[in-house]
Amino acid sequence: MMASIIDGKAFSANLRAAIADHVQRLKQENGITPGLAVVLVGEDPASEVYVRNKGIQTREAGMNSWAHKLEASVSQEELLAVIERLNADPAVHGILVQLPLPGHMDAEAVVNAIDPKKDVDGFHILNVGLLGTGQKSMVPCTPLGCLLMLRDRLGDLSGLNAVVVGRSNIVGKPKAQLLLAENCTVTIAHSRSRDLAAICRGADILIAAVGRPRMITGDWVKPGATVIDVGINRIEENGKTRLVGDVDFESAVQVAGAITPVPGGVGPMTIACLLANTLTACCRANGLPDPELESS
Ligand code: NDP
Repeated sequence: MMASIIDGKAFSANLRAAIADHVQRLKQENGITPGLAVVLVGEDPASEVYVRNKGIQTREAGMNSWAHKLEASVSQEELLAVIERLNADPAVHGILVQLPLPGHMDAEAVVNAIDPKKDVDGFHILNVGLLGTGQKSMVPCTPLGCLLMLRDRLGDLSGLNAVVVGRSNIVGKPKAQLLLAENCTVTIAHSRSRDLAAICRGADILIAAVGRPRMITGDWVKPGATVIDVGINRIEENGKTRLVGDVDFESAVQVAGAITPVPGGVGPMTIACLLANTLTACCRANGLPDPELESS
């Protein structure tokens, strides 16, 4: 039996539509417009594309969007002064500093200078701690996107064996925390794990966040498992540049129960969840309940 394909493009379009509806109601009923400020330092072409897309999708959702572009040579003090201004601006509900930052900056210090309530990436140390202790926080966008797709597909995740391959601060660790909070039995695997294939074969939910093209093959997948491929790898194949995941889709799709493709799986959910976090931050800043964005 071939796996069903989890369509992240369609899922994220539905989520963005639900966000846009909510934003419209906020404007009409409360006179509030959520706003997201993105700060970009330097001229990394990939980062410029991300920032542009974030701006377009923020405006499409009916929110205010600001992009602050700073020269690569800007000092950390100048960047911190921009963040201070945004922290103090009540029209700004979400602040995102596009990573990576130039080498002369201390990225942790910069991220931790953002008001945690406006930290829509969920990378501030306070939000990391709140998530780890099961308290209300801002949740990193990519892991949140994966969770929404999993809940939509599987409903209650209690008791399922989840294996997260990768332990980065931006994907693997927060993803594992979220699954633990859903009552999964969570294994975090990494480059020092022994017999990764056997670990993966025990997974009802298999999350790949490694950064190695097609590393996880079909014979590592438990029949019927739900496979979420976070990887985005650019490879050269037959003279063309292609995007592939960390999972070998061709073989895994034969075994899994459901699987996300690359592209068109997790990727589109990340920006949608950034908008969701901005909306949530705006509601909290105004003493309103968190938006309910999951379709029933
Ligand atoms: P990192 O490089 O920060 O982390 C990679 C993790 O994979 C590390 O924990 C590393 O282990 C582990 N790893 C590396 N090689 C192996 C191996 N051979 N066996 C087992 N584990 C291994 O990457 P990120 O978490 O930032 O990103 C992971 C992937 O997700 C990338 O392809 C990235 O492009 C993609 N990504 C996609 C996003 C999206 O929107 N869809 C957003 C963010 C990332 P160790 O800790 O031991 O070194």
